[in-house]
Amino acid sequence: MSGHSHDHDHDHDHDHDHDHPGEHGAPLSGPALRAKALESLLVEKGLVDPAALDQLIDRYETKVGPRNGARVVARAWTDPAFKRRLLQDTSAAMAEFGYTGRQGENMVAVENTPKVHNMVCCTLCSCYPWPVLGLPPVWYKSAPYRARAVIDPRGVLKEFGVTLGDDVEVRVWDSTAELRYLVLPMRPPGTEGMTEDQLAELVTRDSMIGTGVVKQP
Ligand code: FE
Repeated sequence: MSGHSHDHDHDHDHDHDHDHPGEHGAPLSGPALRAKALESLLVEKGLVDPAALDQLIDRYETKVGPRNGARVVARAWTDPAFKRRLLQDTSAAMAEFGYTGRQGENMVAVENTPKVHNMVCCTLCSCYPWPVLGLPPVWYKSAPYRARAVIDPRGVLKEFGVTLGDDVEVRVWDSTAELRYLVLPMRPPGTEGMTEDQLAELVTRDSMIGTGVVKQP
């Protein structure tokens, strides 16, 4: 599971005022330690293939987790009252779907418009809204992304294949233990007749981090 686990991949300097209780500097403890020990044992006994574990993690990174966020976005696109609630009190609106829990307590949804593109990072580690997006992708936790998202957001976006007009303001949101962000992407044109479920299919994980756009119908 190397490189994938959240709680012990922080090899950076912890001398900062950005408080991440339980995430920084501490050795593995509690459930994380037990999970790691269990994994080592299963691999050692030949009961689990590390590649299969990686595949499982990939599933949570790219499929299971982000589908929650996609449902929230699709609801916001189709239900103006829900969208208002989502923008006013994101955690409460997410809780209407049952999406609550660790790393989702203090959520803020930021809305993309024709004039504003939002993008989320965590410059100091890997804070990420687990209840709506699942596990953070490896690149999100990488030092280059964390550094460059703030210094050169347009350059990063270009590498992700997102080109914005000069008239579009890019806002970069630095996640912390106190605040986690969810980008509400723009609903694509030509989707007027689509159901909420169909719309959710268009919402990609990266569009909710702000490093991607939604699929076109
Ligand atoms: Fe962090």
